[in-house]
Amino acid sequence: MSQIVHKKPPASPQSMEHRNLKQGEFWREIPAYRDVDEATFLDHLWQQRHSVKTPEELLATIEGLASPEFIDDVKAGFHHAPMAVRVSPYAISLIDWHSPYDDPIRRQFIPAASTLLPDHPKLTLDSLHEQDDSPVPGLVHRYVDKALFLPINVCPVYCRFCTRSYAIGPDTDEVDKVSLAKTPAQWQEAFQYISERPELEDIVISGGDAYQLPPRNIELIGNALLDIPHVRRMRFATKGPAVMPMKLLSHSEWVDALAAIADRGRKMGKDVVLHTHFNAPEEITWITQRAMDVLFQRGIFVRNQSVLIRGVNDTPERMQLLVRRLAYLNVHAYYVYMHDMVRGVEELRTTIQTAIDTEKFVRGSLAGFNTPTFVCDAPGGGGKRDVHSFEYYDRENGIAVYAAPSVKPGKAFLYFDPIDRLTADAQARWAVPAIQQQMIEEALRKSGAGREQLVPA
Ligand SMILES: *Cc1c(COP(=O)(O)O)cnc(C)c1O
Ligand code: SF4
Repeated sequence: MSQIVHKKPPASPQSMEHRNLKQGEFWREIPAYRDVDEATFLDHLWQQRHSVKTPEELLATIEGLASPEFIDDVKAGFHHAPMAVRVSPYAISLIDWHSPYDDPIRRQFIPAASTLLPDHPKLTLDSLHEQDDSPVPGLVHRYVDKALFLPINVCPVYCRFCTRSYAIGPDTDEVDKVSLAKTPAQWQEAFQYISERPELEDIVISGGDAYQLPPRNIELIGNALLDIPHVRRMRFATKGPAVMPMKLLSHSEWVDALAAIADRGRKMGKDVVLHTHFNAPEEITWITQRAMDVLFQRGIFVRNQSVLIRGVNDTPERMQLLVRRLAYLNVHAYYVYMHDMVRGVEELRTTIQTAIDTEKFVRGSLAGFNTPTFVCDAPGGGGKRDVHSFEYYDRENGIAVYAAPSVKPGKAFLYFDPIDRLTADAQARWAVPAIQQQMIEEALRKSGAGREQLVPA
């Protein structure tokens, strides 16, 4: 027998860390779940009923694990938050309560007042201007051939950084929510609009979160859209698999409803998929693996959209681990979004440069179809832009200028890096409104150098 020569050195164990999923009854480390058995923890109704919505419920759940100072900090954080708080027991169990400030899951769902930073001066509540592109309540028609349908405004958890903090979840001390169409009768207007626009081939069903739609409404919406001849593709969007994967194991009617739509679509030659939203590698456990296997075996294709969040996934190594773990579960990493410029979460945003550096590292570490595109959903309604495709990027002052010729021709869209990430000199400039304007005008001028001048959206 000939001797095989291994030209590459053996891979480091670290490069296979993505296969190392959390095992066992990890939730029993949380005081309130100490006596919860596997069957109970995997019951989605139990998860929903025990979701934490107030600082008092949080305290009762983790009593003794986190310091009283941290709990006070959270109480103060709740008052300033644009989003209501709701965290599943699954997510609570994945937080390292011994160092909650640094924990990537705590940072996404539970605000702590002491870590908040002032909002960027250029930030608005509906930063993507979805309401401007909304022809009927609960439908956003921005791109030519695709539309975003928002049939529900509740989610299994509330993310602090939600793009739709203007509409999602109950009102908070900080924000009275815009109302979306939330009942089957109200949806008819959206179906009617879609049926009258033959260019619409692709419908995103988001919200809110499709996890919270009862199975009959998954079928009602899916069938209504499949019945429209020019609709060729649809995606149900849900954060659920990342924060409550057990629903896919214990709510069989919901999985059956989704599978029925996917099967009917397949027979009609139409594509029905699920889009989900994992952000941190720790969100993926043995329970997630079992849940994703169910979808894979039912023939439901899953793509993931992450948000690049400071302290959650904003290093090359953590993003690489996340996308490898997703690939391992047959989930295609589709997008990584720049964090939108939404209120009250400045400490979670990061810079365009961070996205560029992270992308450079991730690309080449796994299959191309498992490698996400890093995008900036341009504030002001420009739509998604490849982060690298800016017309101009002033790294010193943190101003990126994007154009979107097939969405809003001739317009310039600006994304601003968080000010605390800039040099002391640049931070001082941002403190003066007159200088802010000068910096922005200069970036716009430079972006148009030698070409057609873009005007601000
Ligand atoms: C993101 C989005 C879509 C879907 O865009 P893809 O790039 O196809 O994922 C459609 N409509 C709106 C308004 C969106 O924000
Ligand atoms: S699950 Fe989606 S819609 Fe709901 S709060 Fe999170 S980001 Fe917003």
